[in-house]
Amino acid sequence: MTIIDGKQVASDIRAELKLKVDKLKEEGKSVPGLVAILVGEDPASKVYVGMKQKACDEVGLYSKLDRLDEGTTESELLQLIEQYNNDEKINGILVQLPLPKHINEDAIIEAINPEKDVDGFHPINVGNMMIGKETLYPCTPHGVVELLKRYNIETKGKHVVVVGRSNIVGKPVANMLLQKKEGANAVVTVVHSAAKDLSLFTKQADILIAAIGVPEFIKSDMVKDGVVIIDVGVNRVEDASRKSGYKLVGDVDFAKVSEKASFITPVPGGVGPMTIAMLLQNTYLAYLKIKMGQYEF
Ligand code: NDP
Repeated sequence: MTIIDGKQVASDIRAELKLKVDKLKEEGKSVPGLVAILVGEDPASKVYVGMKQKACDEVGLYSKLDRLDEGTTESELLQLIEQYNNDEKINGILVQLPLPKHINEDAIIEAINPEKDVDGFHPINVGNMMIGKETLYPCTPHGVVELLKRYNIETKGKHVVVVGRSNIVGKPVANMLLQKKEGANAVVTVVHSAAKDLSLFTKQADILIAAIGVPEFIKSDMVKDGVVIIDVGVNRVEDASRKSGYKLVGDVDFAKVSEKASFITPVPGGVGPMTIAMLLQNTYLAYLKIKMGQYEF
């Protein structure tokens, strides 16, 4: 059994990007720029945005953080996005979700220039992904696909079962792996809370992707021997032995399921670090698309 080291793969991707950004600098060119917009005081969002800023700095990208107060109106946020849509130094615009309730998230996502939509949430990018065109893919699903590639895990003709159908993980990862392309071409089943007997499906998985949000939901009697497990879940559970009072666990019962799996991602240290690495990569790709007219994959 191999534990998939997402931390290492993410670090490799960041190092590869750093070389590319260094080369741009040597050539006297501008560097890709990312702006993160944070509205309000959500503690988890603050942590995520901080991690993204730090990662940008390490790779040598230009990064900017706009912190707006909770009372910011939708029209003020739309104006700010319009400003960055027209700002040459900025290639990627990230609006940290969730937004305060009085702001319509869809309206905000749709206001971002699709070429600067480094989260890959704009309907144009979602549509391009759906029809198999090169585009800015959403970061977490893209991170999953990249992990499978870098561990040389064959997906062609394999049965991938995705548990979860959210717009940010389940649906896009299913879609990406379904495409008739290198590193995809899988037979994909998507299951969710309406499934009558989830095990019926999960037991058939060659590759099981769990994006559920329920701690250790996937048990060892729900999977077959040799399964590849990608655990996207990040759940806080109480742990009195830790100073913080909690620990992070995935959607898969790691201890037991790892006894049957051929490959498995841990939580933390699996998919999580890949999300930020893919965000940086998207910023670089958005830069190439804006400056040179095409994504270089
Ligand atoms: P959502 O809550 O949006 O979606 C969860 C999905 O799981 C839904 O489709 C839901 O079904 C399904 N589900 C929930 N309970 C069950 C059940 N008992 N049986 C079958 N299906 C079930 O979550 P997200 O997709 O946003 O996130 C999933 C997990 O991934 C979370 O733990 C989240 O923290 C983590 N995550 C991690 C990221 C990372 O960077 N590592 C990034 C994004 C998310 P239904 O549609 O029927 O309600």
